Amino acid sequence: MKKETSIDWGNLGFGYIKADYNFISYYKDGKWDDGNLREDDKVTISQGSTCLHYGQQCFEGLKAFKHKDGSVGLFRPFENAKRMNNSAKRIMMPEISEDFFVEACKKVVKANGRFVPPYGSGATLYLRPYIIGIGDNIGVSPAKEYIFGIFVMPVGPYFKGGMSPVNFITSDYDRAAPNGTGSVKVGGNYAGSLLPHHEAVEKGYADCIYLDPLTHTKIEEVGAANFFGITKDNKFVTPKSNSILPSITRKSLLYISKEYLGMEVIEREVYIDKLSEFIEAGACGTAAVISPIGAIMHKNNKHVFYSETKVGEVTMKLYNTFIGIQTGDLKAPDGWIVKID
Ligand SMILES: *Cc1c(COP(=O)(O)O)cnc(C)c1O
Repeated sequence: MKKETSIDWGNLGFGYIKADYNFISYYKDGKWDDGNLREDDKVTISQGSTCLHYGQQCFEGLKAFKHKDGSVGLFRPFENAKRMNNSAKRIMMPEISEDFFVEACKKVVKANGRFVPPYGSGATLYLRPYIIGIGDNIGVSPAKEYIFGIFVMPVGPYFKGGMSPVNFITSDYDRAAPNGTGSVKVGGNYAGSLLPHHEAVEKGYADCIYLDPLTHTKIEEVGAANFFGITKDNKFVTPKSNSILPSITRKSLLYISKEYLGMEVIEREVYIDKLSEFIEAGACGTAAVISPIGAIMHKNNKHVFYSETKVGEVTMKLYNTFIGIQTGDLKAPDGWIVKID
């Protein structure tokens, strides 16, 4: 096997890097094959593939971490397996056994050992699993054949030089319909988010905040991340809705707030005109873990949370605990870390 990479771990962003191997499995005649590792990073499919025309595809995102002892651990991969199956079901794609999913993740990480960033570098190995509908089709109906693939790439820490707050603006666009596909990770949700994101960035914000599609009064998502707020009496609050994508980072933060930091946690509506109940707020997702929210602009009203330049204490504690668990420095709850052999 190839030995070293020339990657500068300290200067990685979030961009495509071709690793040594990717995993690919085909679904045909009603079943998945065993899959295999390959070096080619191109996928050749029929021009009639349903993923190309009707958005029959879904994806996942998770990370692997190098621990102090040199071992490598995946963070909660069974949660991604479950969520991927929920996505697949919603758009009539075949499910994958959770064990098969996790074994495939392990295989591809192991094969790309030299791309796993060193402990302490702040960089991690990002895994991108996906399922796409393929084959010669043209009518609007589920494909008969599918690909389940996983590729990996090393990614840098989201905030270089430490976490710092960013500002967001509410959007008049909706990312999902009340009973649509907002709660599953399907590609169709993301094409529609490109323009709202672009417009928010043009106005000088990190991203937009989506309100609930029915009444536009409650916070749903912060770009492609979930929202949380910390109340004055130290409660961890995160929105509840059928059209939010259930973030695994959020699920983990709910647990960490309660079990590690002894906070009360609540899932409920978060009204955009009642932001003053929070002294800190953040966006959470696999890529950044937590992006502290400095301020939210809504209808020309700017609401500042803790500070536009400093990170709040609770947010900092949550972040440090989370990273500690992921990197193996703190004891993880049972089943959260799946070691690569
Ligand atoms: C993936 C995603 C998230 C974050 O989920 P994690 O499991 O924490 O990475 C949040 N919102 C949307 C819309 C997403 O696609």
